[in-house]
Amino acid sequence: MKVSKRAQDVPTSATIAVTARAMQLKAQGVDVIGFGAGAPDFDTPDYIKDAAIEALKAGKTKYTPAGGIIELRQAIADKLKKENGLDYTPEQIIVNIGGKHSVYESMQAVLDPGDEVILPAPYWVTYPETIKLAGAMSKIIQTDKANNYKITPQRLKDAITDKTALLLINSPNNPGGFTYTPEELKDIAKVLEGTRVMVISDEIYEKLIYGDTKFVSFASLSEDAYNRTLTLNGFSKAFSMTGWRLAYTAGPVDVIKAMGRLQSHMTQNTVTFGQYAAIAALGEQAAGAIEKMRLEFERRGKYMAEQLNSIEGIECTEATGAFYCFPDVSSHYGRNINDTKINGSMDFAKVLLEQANVALVPGLPFGCDNNVRLSFACSFEQIEEGLDRLEKWLKQ
Ligand code: PMP
Repeated sequence: MKVSKRAQDVPTSATIAVTARAMQLKAQGVDVIGFGAGAPDFDTPDYIKDAAIEALKAGKTKYTPAGGIIELRQAIADKLKKENGLDYTPEQIIVNIGGKHSVYESMQAVLDPGDEVILPAPYWVTYPETIKLAGAMSKIIQTDKANNYKITPQRLKDAITDKTALLLINSPNNPGGFTYTPEELKDIAKVLEGTRVMVISDEIYEKLIYGDTKFVSFASLSEDAYNRTLTLNGFSKAFSMTGWRLAYTAGPVDVIKAMGRLQSHMTQNTVTFGQYAAIAALGEQAAGAIEKMRLEFERRGKYMAEQLNSIEGIECTEATGAFYCFPDVSSHYGRNINDTKINGSMDFAKVLLEQANVALVPGLPFGCDNNVRLSFACSFEQIEEGLDRLEKWLKQ
């Protein structure tokens, strides 16, 4: 059967590809250490599961409004008010089937063919594909290691043209593990004033920040920022709920309504009993449940960065958010390891997996070929063993 040009143009996600190969090796009995995961390794907290079971037993098994039940949208509005200082009414909020869906649908709602989207590198692999699927073009902005891979106001200013429709901000960042400071975000917001550039602020890693890092929602910076921003957040990372497919978008009513129209034909509502679990997730027990996971991520992230920096030719900044280290390994490019030439991050990841059975993700699909991504959403023991293997492999 014919496959559409549009679908042919979409590659498999690089993060999924490496996980698939690692799983294949595991199935063959190979002891693989996986640093590829983009999902917390904790189980969903019991109080959330219990709420879903209760809802299921109470017969919450039918369609809901496409954008989600009003109680959940109100709970999200309350959360955004209390934690982020953002005033959104339930009409300004839509519940989506995971953050990927939020990204896809919001782009479909605001982009037209010919629009340009400013995408600072490193970027999450899904962004360029969803931009393309909306008929728009990515304008990738390179960032510097010296600035911890964050976009500067000047670079942003230089990139804006009369075709620029949207800027993507993702802080805390996947794959970079960095977080913009409130001051840095303010400077970015200032550059946008007087332009017609909209912002998607992907805040899915909001809760996973470390040390003295402060999180601030882009839309809360000023009235101007509020009016031009779609705030994206979800349950996957903070509550260890990747399989539940629950996220949301908040923003101007006309855009959220447009997303609702699209969603009513595409998927309708996210799973009904899951919506009740999402209300529980945001409730009183949220802080304690999140903090337990956050502390463990913090411990692992610190250790992983220390260990990576102790390996010759690897440079890594400690993550301030999310659960990724994104070291520069490019000093090893051009080398032969076990008679295999390492020409870039794709070779680095592929050869490391085959020869030392350590799975990590190449930086190239994230727009940074000098780097590789290691997730610390795995056990401490796995980190110890995996980095040991990496060091030995590089010493050959
Ligand atoms: N945004 C970013 C930056 C992510 O890393 C992810 C997950 N990898 C998502 C959104 C989407 O998460 P989900 O679809 O599980 O909600």
